[in-house]
Amino acid sequence: MGVLEIAKGMGVTLGKLFQKPVTVSYPEQRATLQPRFRGRHILTRHPGTNLEKCIGCSLCAAACPAYAIYVEAAENDPAAPVSPGERYAKVYEINMLRCIFCGMCEEACPTGAVVLGNEFEMADYRSRDFVYAKEDMLVGVTGSIPQRREATRLGKPVRLGFQLDGGQPRAELEGVKYP
Ligand code: SF4
Ligand code: SF4
Repeated sequence: MGVLEIAKGMGVTLGKLFQKPVTVSYPEQRATLQPRFRGRHILTRHPGTNLEKCIGCSLCAAACPAYAIYVEAAENDPAAPVSPGERYAKVYEINMLRCIFCGMCEEACPTGAVVLGNEFEMADYRSRDFVYAKEDMLVGVTGSIPQRREATRLGKPVRLGFQLDGGQPRAELEGVKYP
C-alpha cells in the first residue's frame, strides 16, 4: 500500500470524525424511532364515550401468523357496556415472545381496536411475564411490564428509552400520547 492510499484512508477517517454519529449511547441516550416503527400493541378506546373499541371478534387472532393472540369474548351488559358492540373481549392476551410485530392483527381488526405503538423495551426474565393482558395494553398505559415494575420499585415515572422524530408517530394517530 502506497503513501497515497494511506493518506486517502486517513482523509476518509478524519472526514468521518467531524460528522454527526449515526448511533446513540443507548440507554443513556434515547433511541430515535421512525413514524412507521411497530412496537408494543395498544388497545384503543372510542374518544368521547371511552368504550373499548375491541368487540372480541377474534379476527386479529385468526390473522396472527405466530398464534400469539388469545381472545375470549363475553356479552355486554346493556346497562354498563364495555364496548359498543354486543360483545367485548373479556380476555385479551398477546404473547410477546411469539409476536413478530408484523402488524397483521392491526390490519385484520374491523374496529381499529388494536394498533402497534412505539414501545419496544420488553426484555424480562420469566416467560409468563411476556403474556400481556388487556390491562397492560389498554390506551393510557405507559411502559412495558418490566418498565412499570421498575418504576414502581423506584417510585418514579416510567422512563421510555426512545424519542420520536420525523413526523406523526403511528400511535398518536390513535390518540396515544407519550411523555
Ligand atoms: S403483530 Fe403480528 S405476530 Fe404480533 S400479535 Fe399481531 S399479528 Fe401476531
Ligand atoms: S382487537 Fe379487533 S380483531 Fe381483535 S378481537 Fe378486538 S375487535 Fe376483533
